Amino acid sequence: MRLGIFGGSFNPVHYGHLVLAEVCRETCGLDEVWLVPAAVPPHKQGVEMASGKARLEMLELALAGNEHLRPSPVELDRGGVSYTVDTLACIAEEKPGASLFLLMGADSLEDLPTWREPERICALATPIVVRRAGSPEPDFSALAPLVSAERLAEIRRWQVEMPLVELSSTDLRQRAAAGKSLRFRTPRAVERYIETHGLYRVSGEW
Ligand code: ATP
Repeated sequence: MRLGIFGGSFNPVHYGHLVLAEVCRETCGLDEVWLVPAAVPPHKQGVEMASGKARLEMLELALAGNEHLRPSPVELDRGGVSYTVDTLACIAEEKPGASLFLLMGADSLEDLPTWREPERICALATPIVVRRAGSPEPDFSALAPLVSAERLAEIRRWQVEMPLVELSSTDLRQRAAAGKSLRFRTPRAVERYIETHGLYRVSGEW
């Protein structure tokens, strides 16, 4: 089984996330992709966010009825700062025999060496580096100190390109705070959830 892991804040989930996950699933023949909201993202410590429960519920609504894309509470259940290496180790134990893939934007590739135990991350899972259409070729040299030349060549082969979806959670939060429309930026059920729960109404209080 090929299992893709896609971590993020998902504060809230939007179509950029969903297109990325689906393009990787299709291109790389993944059986499942798990979207994993972070309890506390390492690079967003001290940043106010919607609750983990709300972010997970929005993912559940966005993915309802999809057989291949699933939300995973693994990091929320663990709590504390969410390190990718811990998540991959936990999933590897839960799913012995599965080949794990780590979905990441090309922007995150440059940061990977600064993550906790990057060598172990690359051993536990094969990074699938996603390039947005029109962006330059990802710089895989960041991985050179972490993996063998053969492994680096293999990781390069898993590179995926996705169409440019110019959305970010920041943009959605700002729109919600300004009372602007979220229609067609996130699934309708997520839009309704944000309205019903009054999420992101006050600028900066997330
Ligand atoms: P924020 O605006 O709050 O920083 P975000 O929209 O970047 O959030 P995250 O949940 O932090 O969302 O995203 C997780 C990963 O999803 C990011 O590392 C990024 O690579 C990818 N991603 C987010 N938005 C897009 C998009 N529009 N197109 C492609 N990839 C995206």
